[in-house]
Amino acid sequence: MSYTIEAIATVRSPYTQKFGIPRQSHLVPAARCRIEFAPQFGADSVRGLEGFGYIWVQFVFHDALAEGWAQMVRPPRLGGKRKMGVFATRSPHRPNHLGLSLLKLEGIECGSSGVKIRCSGADLLDGTPVIDIKPYIPFVEARPDAAAGFAAESPPLLDIVWQTKADGLSDGLKTLIEQSVAQDPRPAYQDIAERIYVMEIAGWEVKFRIEGQTAAIIQIKPIGAI
Ligand code: SAH
Repeated sequence: MSYTIEAIATVRSPYTQKFGIPRQSHLVPAARCRIEFAPQFGADSVRGLEGFGYIWVQFVFHDALAEGWAQMVRPPRLGGKRKMGVFATRSPHRPNHLGLSLLKLEGIECGSSGVKIRCSGADLLDGTPVIDIKPYIPFVEARPDAAAGFAAESPPLLDIVWQTKADGLSDGLKTLIEQSVAQDPRPAYQDIAERIYVMEIAGWEVKFRIEGQTAAIIQIKPIGAI
C-alpha cells in the first residue's frame, strides 16, 4: 500500500543547516520557530488550538530522504558506538522519514498572509515540511514514570565561555546560541580539542571549540560576511 501525503505547512526555523540542531524538541527552549500554513488552511482550521500549551508536529525529514534508511542506527546518546533498531530510536533515517516533535505553543496569527503558529523548543531544520498538527493532551499522553530504554536521562550539557565579543547580539540570540552549543553538537565519536566547529544559526556563523566539558565560542559573524 502506498499513500500520497501533502504538506500542510512549512517550518521557518533559526537552524538553516543540520549541524547544531538539537537532537530532540524541548532541549533548546530558546529555539523559536514559525509554522506557516499553506493558503487553503484558514483561521477555521486552527480554531480552539490556542487553548493548548503544546502541540505535536508531524513532519518529513526532507533533508534526510536522499540518505535512505537502515534497519539499525547508532543513536548519538550511545556515543555512536552501539546500534539499535531504527524503530527503537528517533533517527531521521527511517523508512518513511517521518518526524514527530512536541513543541511549546507560543501564539497563533491569522493575518492577511495566512495562518502562522509560533512555537519554541524546536529541533527542526528551516524549510521542514509539516504534514499534521495535533494538540498535546497531558492526561492521555504524559507518562513521566514510563521506562525510557537507553534514553532515561537527559544528556549532559557543556559549559559555555565566550572568547569573542558578544556585544550587539540580542539576549534572545545569545541564549539561543548558548543553549544550542551546550547540547554538544559534535558527531558522537569526535573528541578533538583543536577542532573548530562552525554552525549556522539565525543568520549567523558561530565558531566554537570544545575541550572537556567546556565549549568556547571563538567567533561569530553574519553569514556571508568576510
Ligand atoms: N523530535 C523529532 C526529531 C528527532 S531527530 C523526532 O523524534 O522525530 C532530530 C534531528 O533531526 C535534528 O538534530 C536534526 O539534525 C534532524 N532534522 C531536523 N529537521 C530535519 C529535516 N527537515 N530533515 C532532515 N533532518 C532534520
